[in-house]
Amino acid sequence: MSTSDRPTAAARQRELVGLVADLGPTFAERAAGYDREARFPVENYADLRKAGLLGLCIPADHGGLGADFATYGLVSEELGRYCGSTALTFNMHTATMLLCGQIADDLAMSAAERARHERRRAAMFAGVIEKGHIHAQPFSEGNAPGATAGVNTLAVPVDGGWRLRGRKIFASLSGAADRHNVICVTPDDPTIRFMSVRAGAEGLRTEGEWDPLGMRGTVSLTLVMDDVFVPAEAELLPPGVFDQVASRWPHFYLTLSFTYLGIMRAVMDFTDDYLAGRVGPGARRDNPQKQAGWAQLQVAYERTYALARQVLAEAGPDPTHEQVRRAWAAAVSTMETAPELASLAVRVCGGRSLLRPQPLERLYRDARCGATMLPWSVEACLDRLGRAGLSAAEDGEPYA
Ligand SMILES: Cc1cc2nc3c(=O)[nH]c(=O)nc-3n(C[C@H](O)[C@H](O)[C@H](O)COP(=O)(O)OP(=O)(O)OC[C@H]3O[C@@H](n4cnc5c(N)ncnc54)[C@H](O)[C@@H]3O)c2cc1C
Repeated sequence: MSTSDRPTAAARQRELVGLVADLGPTFAERAAGYDREARFPVENYADLRKAGLLGLCIPADHGGLGADFATYGLVSEELGRYCGSTALTFNMHTATMLLCGQIADDLAMSAAERARHERRRAAMFAGVIEKGHIHAQPFSEGNAPGATAGVNTLAVPVDGGWRLRGRKIFASLSGAADRHNVICVTPDDPTIRFMSVRAGAEGLRTEGEWDPLGMRGTVSLTLVMDDVFVPAEAELLPPGVFDQVASRWPHFYLTLSFTYLGIMRAVMDFTDDYLAGRVGPGARRDNPQKQAGWAQLQVAYERTYALARQVLAEAGPDPTHEQVRRAWAAAVSTMETAPELASLAVRVCGGRSLLRPQPLERLYRDARCGATMLPWSVEACLDRLGRAGLSAAEDGEPYA
């Protein structure tokens, strides 16, 4: 971006964040119901679609809003401020748009692959813009921490495409998405493939119960693929490109954290209102202990926010080792500080702040979920940071 573009880009970012801010109060009102019933936020998605936000990261020449990765981070954070489950599922949808859009543009492909990719993503983008398709990204299988490790879903080549067999745990949007974009491997080849499974395809089903601690509106059931046919055109990235993401565009795995930054903001909004007496039983603003707690909350929030913002500005292809380490540190910082902040807010606000319909107890539960999310879970990031710079084994390791 040149200096003269900067005001325009910033204004556009504000405009797009503003689209979410306009929907925010309605989303915040609905959030309690989705949480209580562990129900997907269908109504919020109708509103997101109407506002054009399903196309947030679809390039403008494909009819989308043309937002880049950094803008996505800001929009996601704003969404997380009002409804964590909507933000986290919107992340899954938008991550595929980024992967096939901005990120794919930065990665290596042959000319023939690039032409084929252009055709396929044009069809995918058109599905979102013209038909309102919602995309999910069930990658997890629960076998290994790495982005490209432990993938056992198998795609067997058949006439006109593939037959997929496997299971994905925590498939957010399991009953709501029109497309489930999975990672898989083909026989005798470790290259990760990225394929889009149509909802309702024969052999596709969900399994299990959904009654979790938090992020209950994500409805992340187990998704089972039992010989599901996927046409060749539904392979969304050329073979090998997904593997490149882990080494060349690792900030991709940071997208989840902006939801949790938004939840932190919601905790701050609530605490501010509660202590000032704008909500709840009455003002506590003059109590020195509450003030000390409020000061601590602000320090924790600002520290996390500052690191997240720096890392967001550094996201792009081929980061330095130092930038990747900072991104891992930012993931740990956000995913650990979010539940700590919510916990501290409970203590500072006091017992009555825990009573529904106050949102704090839900924010507390939602905030706890982020640290477990792979491949950049807190444990996985700490594991990598613990070896960073110290171990020769680190050289050439994928970043995700
Ligand atoms: C609300 C919610 C929504 C989710 N939505 C999605 C989604 O839409 N798509 C998706 O792909 N996933 C999703 N996930 C799944 C998430 O990303 C993780 O895969 C999941 O939480 C892992 O659970 P687990 O019990 O298998 O974890 P763990 O047992 O912690 O980890 C899984 C495996 O990796 C190993 N492992 C983990 N960390 C390390 C480490 N540091 N070093 C060595 N081995 C390690 C473990 O031994 C285990 O075999 C969601 C999770 C939640 C909570």
